[in-house]
Amino acid sequence: MEGYKPTIGLEIHAELKTNTKMFCDSKNDPEERDPNVNVCPVCMAHPGTLPVINKEAVKHVVRVGTALNGNIADFTEFDRKNYFYPDIPKGYQISQYKYPIVSGGKLNGIEITRVHLEEDTARSTHDSHDTHTLVDFNRAGIPLMELVTEPVVGDAQSAGNFARELQLLLRYLGASNANMEKGEMRVEANVSVSKTDEYGTKVEVKNLNSFKVVEKAIEYEIKRQIKELENGGKVVQETRGWDENKQATFSQREKESSHDYRYFPDPDLPKLKLSEIDEFQNIELPELPQEKRSRYQSEFDIKDEDIESYITNPALAGYFENVVGHLKDKDAIKLASNYITSDILGILKTESHEVIQNTIGKLDADDFADLVSMAHTGEISSRGLKEVLPKVLKEDKTARELAEEHGLFQKSDEGELKTIVEKVIADNPKIAEDFRGGNEKVLQFLVGQGMKATYGAGNPQVLAKLFKELI
Ligand code: ADP
Ligand code: MG
Repeated sequence: MEGYKPTIGLEIHAELKTNTKMFCDSKNDPEERDPNVNVCPVCMAHPGTLPVINKEAVKHVVRVGTALNGNIADFTEFDRKNYFYPDIPKGYQISQYKYPIVSGGKLNGIEITRVHLEEDTARSTHDSHDTHTLVDFNRAGIPLMELVTEPVVGDAQSAGNFARELQLLLRYLGASNANMEKGEMRVEANVSVSKTDEYGTKVEVKNLNSFKVVEKAIEYEIKRQIKELENGGKVVQETRGWDENKQATFSQREKESSHDYRYFPDPDLPKLKLSEIDEFQNIELPELPQEKRSRYQSEFDIKDEDIESYITNPALAGYFENVVGHLKDKDAIKLASNYITSDILGILKTESHEVIQNTIGKLDADDFADLVSMAHTGEISSRGLKEVLPKVLKEDKTARELAEEHGLFQKSDEGELKTIVEKVIADNPKIAEDFRGGNEKVLQFLVGQGMKATYGAGNPQVLAKLFKELI
């Protein structure tokens, strides 16, 4: 098993967010549940119809290419990829072959070969007896972006992380919702292993519907290929699927090579000179995930896990930045971040994504910043803060009002705390004796008892001082 080096290249498709389909004005609505309603003569391939390029879709790919630091083609065109299948009404798919919109670029340190634009196929459903296939053409003709990486990914985890990062990027750009579970983003992994500098024969694994499955399938495939070679066999170039029950890949078909598709430029569509289209010049991009990570690191100096929580949840990030706007102290900002990512998210953990977004939307940043300041300056204890927090999320009162109502402001008044300290000493004569005998360690315990007696509101510094004085 020693000495084999895996090589992985990814092909990732993403359905683009546009109002209408790629080559006609049928609605692009991935949420549509009734079959065959978003269709028209063009996407149903009626004779005599002509496709028209959707500019919005081209723009999405230009933006993605810009974000990836790729080269945006000056000249680009669409080709026909010919094959016969019930989900492809024209008998060919319009795609791009020789002149993709984007060449080169990089993401997560992985080189990208190209990004091109094509149209999605219809959706087939096979009935349980395997006697009928139902075809829903709502998806036929939806704009589909395909990104291809170089064969430079070295392990399953890096492949999964690349796909996760691309999903984030597509969402930040508003190019795609990119939900893998919904098929809005689909990952295919090409996997080979070799003991030499030459690449081994690659296998393409399809139907991977989550990041975890992408990783598991690649790991499985690497092991399977090594075993095959070790047993004196060889790897067959083929397409394999993922069997969730068996947790294994299985052979689907031997792969066709590209000349089987008889690609040629689609004569019904104009060629595009992208450099001459005004709105594709000087593309302005929003802050991208990697930029946001760097900014959060340098501006707020918060934990990497906190940063990732914000990167994947822009509403939470927006909230955090609002809170930061009300805080001056660096430590208070760190404290706030800690409470937002562990406590607020913890409280809302079992809620739906919608409830979380709504609750965060309603949470007053000013008020929360005030709460954090109270804990930072020691007006209330961190235990006190954790007690008020769920109430702040539910009740229509300020944090200060709630802290007051629940008696959480730390008691620093020596006169008031003295009675409590005296009672703790009386209740724990042996420990008090130990402390008098010079055992400093028990002070912590005594202060803890004092805190308990004040329901966390006693100021621990003042309590310690009183114990030292009174024992
Ligand atoms: P094909 O002509 O079979 O489609 P391509 O050269 O277009 O192959 O590559 C398709 C994908 O397979 C790319 O993501 C590429 O990085 C990857 N790939 C190519 N050769 C290998 C290999 N030997 N091992 C793993 N991945 C590979
Ligand atoms: Mg190819």
